[in-house]
Amino acid sequence: MQDFSFKDIENDRVQPGQYTLSGWVKTHRQSKNVSFIELSDGSAVKGLQLVIEPNLQGYSELAPKITTGSAITVTGELVESPARGQKYELKVSSVELVGEANPESYPLQKKGHTLEFLREILHLRPRSNTLGAVFRIRSRAALAVHQFFQDRGFVHVHAPIITASDCEGAGALFRVTTLDPANPPRKEGKVDFGEDFFGCEAFLSVSGQLQAEVFAQGLTKAYTFAPTFRAENSNTARHLAEFWMIEPEVAFCDLEGNMKLGREFISYLIKDLAENCAADLEFLHKRDWVKPGLMETLLSVAESDFAVLDYSEAIKILEKSSKKFEFPVKWGMDLQAEHERYLTDQYIKGPLYVINYPKEIKAFYMRLNDDGKTVRAMDMLVPKLGEIIGGSQREERYDVLLDKIRAQGLPEEHYDWYLDLRKYGSTPHSGFGLGFERFLMYVTGMQNIRDVIPFPRYPGHARG
Ligand code: ATP
Ligand code: MN
Repeated sequence: MQDFSFKDIENDRVQPGQYTLSGWVKTHRQSKNVSFIELSDGSAVKGLQLVIEPNLQGYSELAPKITTGSAITVTGELVESPARGQKYELKVSSVELVGEANPESYPLQKKGHTLEFLREILHLRPRSNTLGAVFRIRSRAALAVHQFFQDRGFVHVHAPIITASDCEGAGALFRVTTLDPANPPRKEGKVDFGEDFFGCEAFLSVSGQLQAEVFAQGLTKAYTFAPTFRAENSNTARHLAEFWMIEPEVAFCDLEGNMKLGREFISYLIKDLAENCAADLEFLHKRDWVKPGLMETLLSVAESDFAVLDYSEAIKILEKSSKKFEFPVKWGMDLQAEHERYLTDQYIKGPLYVINYPKEIKAFYMRLNDDGKTVRAMDMLVPKLGEIIGGSQREERYDVLLDKIRAQGLPEEHYDWYLDLRKYGSTPHSGFGLGFERFLMYVTGMQNIRDVIPFPRYPGHARG
């Protein structure tokens, strides 16, 4: 293992001295008087400049093999650098070639590969400066998520990945089965899932919410942070088949408390990353696909009082706007991305919540309002992205919940345990879901969700 990681230089945690360091070669410039290698260990945007005297023992034989992408270990003296833009450089006293990278075939020769190209070589993607920065931010954001909730007394719940209940009561599920697809057992002409591994149909979870509710009804504050799966065949830049979701759930909490929690959560994450990933964010925000001013937008969201719009009000605003929408505006419709973007980018010009949606377009577990038509739902919309959080106050009244399960034609027998929570010590409670990758797109400025998850899963893509 090397003596320090290059991130320590960025963080000013390194003193001049003698060190042994390893990494991959970004560039190697040879000349008569002195050679330079830019070495990266992937821990920071900036690599370290190695300075090599051409007469260094063994160097002239190794030099042709020290090519972009090769791995080397060097020992030398870390000294303050006379060059601009770097604090230190390493005066190399010995160099060892650890792993060659044939320049004829190594795919990351030149700088400036497209993100599409990098998606075809997922196994080499972490070597790219852009993706390296994204994944360092992702790692820090995961820590910040846990820190935020644990500091506030939430219990982290590992919700199951395999489940027999479909949370949303909608389609788009991946089936989990051990039956032989060529010859499944049949009963009355249909596949008999009673014979399957779990004795019933089973699926990959679309959400950990119902399980988080179970824990909130015993431990008061709970959250999940886990992969979720949706088989929706949506080939968009904002949808994945496997994505990570953060779902807090709080007992004795109404919609106002829920909105406050969502606001504080987003604000905390932005501030944490601004502090701990400053160099990575700055690097990404300079990419040519990012509109200038993203950091200012993020910091203003972190300090902002979010506007709150009733769904019905939002519909009136959209109807009155002079903008032509692809999906015509009408009370009762679900807001499409174009409507969300109008509300946040153009009307409010900042982050907002839309609340109290028609019950028909929202899930069965959302609490029915006294008007009998709308539910205590909340979507958080942020500038330049649209929906980032979806949540609600949950229906805590047994009879109302049962009616809604029946009205939506859901299999009642699957929800007996969920209904039980409303029988014994039921409480008003609320929660929301934040798509982790949507959040990462937002802070990094990356335009495609496939570039903020290490191994994106989407239609036609499950390899590597
Ligand atoms: P959208 O309308 O954008 O498809 P949704 O209404 O289906 O979102 P929810 O079911 O409320 O979303 O899921 C909660 C959160 O999970 C969303 O706010 C979003 O951040 C994220 N999310 C939903 N579907 C996906 C997906 N296929 N890929 C990545 N993130 C997703
Ligand atoms: Mn969706």
